[in-house]
Amino acid sequence: MDSPFRFYLKRQAKAAGALGIAFRDQPLGPTDGPEQLVAALRALDRDPGVYGVLVEHPLPAPFDFFRAVDELRPEKDVDGVGSRNLGRIVGQRPVHVPAVALAALAIARHYRLPLAGEPTAVVGRSTTVGLPLAVLLASPPPGANAAVTVLHSKSGDLAARLRGARTIFSCVGRPGLLDRAVVPEGAHVVDVGLSSVPDPDKPGAQKAVGDADPRSLDGWAGSLTPVPGGVGPVTVAELMGETVRSWQLLAAARATA
Ligand code: NAP
Repeated sequence: MDSPFRFYLKRQAKAAGALGIAFRDQPLGPTDGPEQLVAALRALDRDPGVYGVLVEHPLPAPFDFFRAVDELRPEKDVDGVGSRNLGRIVGQRPVHVPAVALAALAIARHYRLPLAGEPTAVVGRSTTVGLPLAVLLASPPPGANAAVTVLHSKSGDLAARLRGARTIFSCVGRPGLLDRAVVPEGAHVVDVGLSSVPDPDKPGAQKAVGDADPRSLDGWAGSLTPVPGGVGPVTVAELMGETVRSWQLLAAARATA
């Protein structure tokens, strides 16, 4: 199976096509290095016909994803993963927010999961997924006013840390991490994780799974978002929304220039 980024790239291309947004995959050449990536991003940033740019990640050494994405102005960094956009989330005046964090929050709100004032856990603290989501959850409105605990690979006994949590956002990428031994009974789980594992029903094929073990959590968790078909498609929709907003922002800036 493709990497999670590639997996979603195909879905983004399809969604963009359906919406009439021109979408192109611009691969680097086989001998290109970090300087060529920076040059390509500078050119895209200057191009008035481009309204949003995504940089594949994780990138192999010697590429530096965060250095690369910081070549983009905040409006064109539609997935909100550059340092200026991430900083603005903390300052509560974001231009763009990582689409996966918007999606996880949108799902929790749509299903009215307990957030405001409630014990809420985010498992995973990456710069592009877990931390921005935790900041959105903990922030005052339009954030969720949740009482957030952020967990990671060094935070100790997961079951003990999750005790009392009413809603858990899992952003790890470890199949089977969340089962009834660690999830409190009745807690809601928003599964952001995406991994590929061998498909037992199709020898030689892979299938997408989340961090939660749905069989174990069936009849135990308050609710569980499916993988595939949960956070992923909503992330694509949020990204399309951010791209349209970028077009609006850049067009408005041009009109007043
Ligand atoms: P990442 O950079 O690998 O971060 C994983 C995080 O999980 C790290 O903070 C890590 O802790 C933590 N972790 C690892 N093992 C753990 C354990 N046993 N207990 C608690 N925490 C643990 O991954 P990412 O980019 O944030 O992505 C996370 C997942 O979301 C992946 O499966 C990815 O494919 C998925 N994703 C889905 C979408 C979507 O649209 N659905 C979009 C983006 C990402 P340390 O910091 O201590 O290493």
